[in-house]
Amino acid sequence: MTEKTHEFQAEVSKLLDIVAHSLYSEKEIFLRELVSNSSDACDRLRYEALTKPELIKDDPEFKVVLTIDKKAKTLTIADNGIGMTEQEIIDNLGTIARSGTSRFSEELTGDAAKDMTLIGQFGVGFYSSFMVADNVTVTSRKAGEEQATNWSSKGEGSFDIEAGTRETRGTTITLHMRKEAKEFLEPARIRNVIKTYADHIALPVILTATEEDGEDETLNTASALWTRPKSEITPEQYTEFYHHVGEVYDSPWLTLHSKVEGRIEYSMLLFVPEQPPFDLFNSERKSRLKLYVKRVFITDDCEELIPAYLRFLRGVVDSEDLPLNVSREMLQNNPVLMKIRSGLIKKVIGELEKKAKKDTESFAKFWSNFGAVLKEGIYEDTENGERILKIALFNSTHEENLTSLADYVGRMKDGQDVIYYISGDDLDALKSSPQLEGFAAKGVEVLLFSDAVDSFWLNRITEYDGKSFQSVTRGTAGLEKIAGDNGETEETESKIESGEMDSLIALFKQALDGKVKDVKESTRLTASPVCLVADDGDMDIHLEKMLKAHKQFGGAESMRILELNPTHTLIKKLAANAKAKGASEALEDAALLLLDQAHIVEGDPVADPVAFSKRMADFMASGLSG
Ligand code: ADP
Ligand code: MG
Repeated sequence: MTEKTHEFQAEVSKLLDIVAHSLYSEKEIFLRELVSNSSDACDRLRYEALTKPELIKDDPEFKVVLTIDKKAKTLTIADNGIGMTEQEIIDNLGTIARSGTSRFSEELTGDAAKDMTLIGQFGVGFYSSFMVADNVTVTSRKAGEEQATNWSSKGEGSFDIEAGTRETRGTTITLHMRKEAKEFLEPARIRNVIKTYADHIALPVILTATEEDGEDETLNTASALWTRPKSEITPEQYTEFYHHVGEVYDSPWLTLHSKVEGRIEYSMLLFVPEQPPFDLFNSERKSRLKLYVKRVFITDDCEELIPAYLRFLRGVVDSEDLPLNVSREMLQNNPVLMKIRSGLIKKVIGELEKKAKKDTESFAKFWSNFGAVLKEGIYEDTENGERILKIALFNSTHEENLTSLADYVGRMKDGQDVIYYISGDDLDALKSSPQLEGFAAKGVEVLLFSDAVDSFWLNRITEYDGKSFQSVTRGTAGLEKIAGDNGETEETESKIESGEMDSLIALFKQALDGKVKDVKESTRLTASPVCLVADDGDMDIHLEKMLKAHKQFGGAESMRILELNPTHTLIKKLAANAKAKGASEALEDAALLLLDQAHIVEGDPVADPVAFSKRMADFMASGLSG
């Protein structure tokens, strides 16, 4: 094979430019990335070797070996993992394959200082080598194959590929260190970096002897972190392990390490991130927990291990009972795995319950990151859904902070027997919904459901603590029965006589025939003239809209009820006019305009914008001339 030059994918070039010229202070993370890759490569081969033991027969002890050559100014990182073929090298080290890194390149701003902080947040994997090296060579030989391949690059736009030699399988990375990075040619510095960032790596990371001190040295503890006793693990070690398994670079919000013994045995080391991972709301709803069997990595793509609503968790589960040669098919409906799953769910929810109780402020932060995901469990998990509902937090009209249902119930007014809510997709729009006016006037709290998932769980859960949920945009508000803040149940606003409302309502019904289900006098409005509500038996306005948007609901749109506010000046004037003069074109126009207005407030499009603007213009003109 003759040498061939390949261009880096444009995104890689952009990335390398930043990496190479960066002033990023924590340059030592390149070693974390490379050792982490070696460890992954060994994990993958160990798994392959379960069915093809011949792959590792000649060299069964997995390890990573670091060698310093001060004269040549090189540091090499060699592993006997799975290795790469020529094509794999070209694909993996020439493009941005991992989603975290491609996300990084999307977020690049061109502002060096800002972009640097992003490196820490996303991690740039293999390419971080160019932070410390101005020339990088990779020699790799895939397990089971004879030919090795050489990759080399100065990190400036292109890389070269040629045939290489390697005695056995694995990958060797040679870094020609920049002058500014010569500290990484010192054994003491390397020792320190490995201790800090890679102690949790489950295979030995060995520093080969230099002339000065004559012996090879294993730098890390080299046992899987989750198998060690909790008391021997420092928070820093947990965090580093979290970075390694989770491929996220914040600190864990919650670390959950436990060993379950008994009829089935397994360990879990789970983390709840502090920041929401960027792919949290991807439609695949994929989890990334790693499944190990007796310390052998099996897969990080196992739907059976955890439910989608816990997909924000990172970490590992290691089972003692699953067979090592477990196949993907065997994982489906596997009774052992099902027990692990159910134990894991209970453990995680249990820990969240503790946090919710003991550390409300921190729990509220967790909730704003992951609540919308966790709430999927309220309707998906028939066994644990109610427990999630109990710790769930919601926005409400009560105050800026989130509230639990228990706290809401504690604040319910005398005579209030239901939990009121309003749902929609925009929190701010919800807060100013006209349907809330009467509730605000009486000081009755309303929960604001602004996550799409709320409409779904509301379909399954009908009550909490014996109180049913009621949408303030559906049915009668029931406000009459509730004592207001000053203890009165009577309306105090000046209303018009009901006889006058009757003729207006009759005229509106006629004018809006076929456009609304009914026209009624409202008890829930105080400031706005009109609003739309759903009839008792009909679907909640927001739910119907959402199901339509998701094509889950094909039926004809339900007709709404238009409510008129008898305390509003405009309605009073219209009512007086209706009583005195009867039907007129002006009243008909007013009815149509007010209906359009009510739709606009709901965020609906105006049915006939041309007719709407004409009526509006006519009305304004007559208003000005009158
Ligand atoms: P990531 O590890 O997140 O996938 P990297 O940039 O660190 O991203 O590595 C890119 C890919 O290159 C890896 O996914 C892997 O396929 C391959 N790779 C890197 N280092 C090694 C190695 N030492 N042995 C085998 N494959 C490797
Ligand atoms: Mg990597």
